[in-house]
Amino acid sequence: MRAVFLKKFKEPPEIVDFEPDWSLSIGEVLLEVEMSGLCYRDLLTVEGYFPRTRLPIILGHEIAGKVIAIGEGVTGFKPGDRVASLTYIPCGKCRYCESGNENLCKQRLTFGEDINGSFANIVKTHERSLIKVPDSVTPEGAAIAACVTGMLLRALKHVARVKQGESVLITGAGGGVGIHAVQLAKVLGCRVLAATSSREKVKRISDAGADEVLLSDDMMVDEVKQLTGGDGVDVVLEAVGQPTFGKSLRCLAWGGRMVVVGNVTVSSVEVPLGLIILKANSIAGTIAATKNDLEEALRLTAEGKLKPIITVYPLEKIHDAMERMRQKESVGRILLKP
Ligand SMILES: [Zn+2]
Ligand SMILES: [Zn+2]
Repeated sequence: MRAVFLKKFKEPPEIVDFEPDWSLSIGEVLLEVEMSGLCYRDLLTVEGYFPRTRLPIILGHEIAGKVIAIGEGVTGFKPGDRVASLTYIPCGKCRYCESGNENLCKQRLTFGEDINGSFANIVKTHERSLIKVPDSVTPEGAAIAACVTGMLLRALKHVARVKQGESVLITGAGGGVGIHAVQLAKVLGCRVLAATSSREKVKRISDAGADEVLLSDDMMVDEVKQLTGGDGVDVVLEAVGQPTFGKSLRCLAWGGRMVVVGNVTVSSVEVPLGLIILKANSIAGTIAATKNDLEEALRLTAEGKLKPIITVYPLEKIHDAMERMRQKESVGRILLKP
């Protein structure tokens, strides 16, 4: 077994060969990892922004794999099943889990932070985290179904409650989250304005379906106003955080809603309360996906409505992949193949 271990915060993770103990408890499932997504959250974990992370730990929480063994009491899965996992194992008992909001479960165990993750050949999970993958969905599509496309379904459909015909501004539109948000907002029938800091990414974002692509520079607010007849957009999906927050807030129409899903600089922002009140805007955060979101994301992928835009690195090239992400060089999600 080969795995990427984080042993100490702020130090590069290490690739380690070892023989783990694979005994399974009730409900547990062993997966052969087919593909794993690299998330900005992994970079923040390495930097120590999640200080409760249990070191040493195998990183990786975006998981597509094949069942190779099941523990006692597992009823929903058998060896050979192709599966996608939530980014965490929900407790299954709390009020959030019982009401279908397991993404808010306070007892959830997050891969790569509380329990060993998927930057490895094999990962151990519980059947509560798993959904079967339709035959027509590739490991690439399955690997982004929890933290990218499923999370975005939660953000756009359930938190922002976008309606057909509404306008949506997406920041960080060339990134792994942003470019799939462009696709999903189109699937949901919206007019999509996509903002990026990188001129080189404009064509790829446009190809992904954006109606307008603009640079997230000082002209962004004026451009958005111009493109919306002076009104601003109904919804902002803020996938960047502090660097674009102030501008994207001013892009909102009266009554407009913002959903924040990214926080790349981990710094605070100023919120002009007068403006929020005057324009009756709302700002919401959201995290992860529920099993229903994961299932719907896989279905939309099977139907060809969501198409993974990805770059695959071998697991051994983890350091190159992380550097590429840090430099914001890649378009779409970076995946690691063990
Ligand atoms: Zn993630
Ligand atoms: Zn729970």
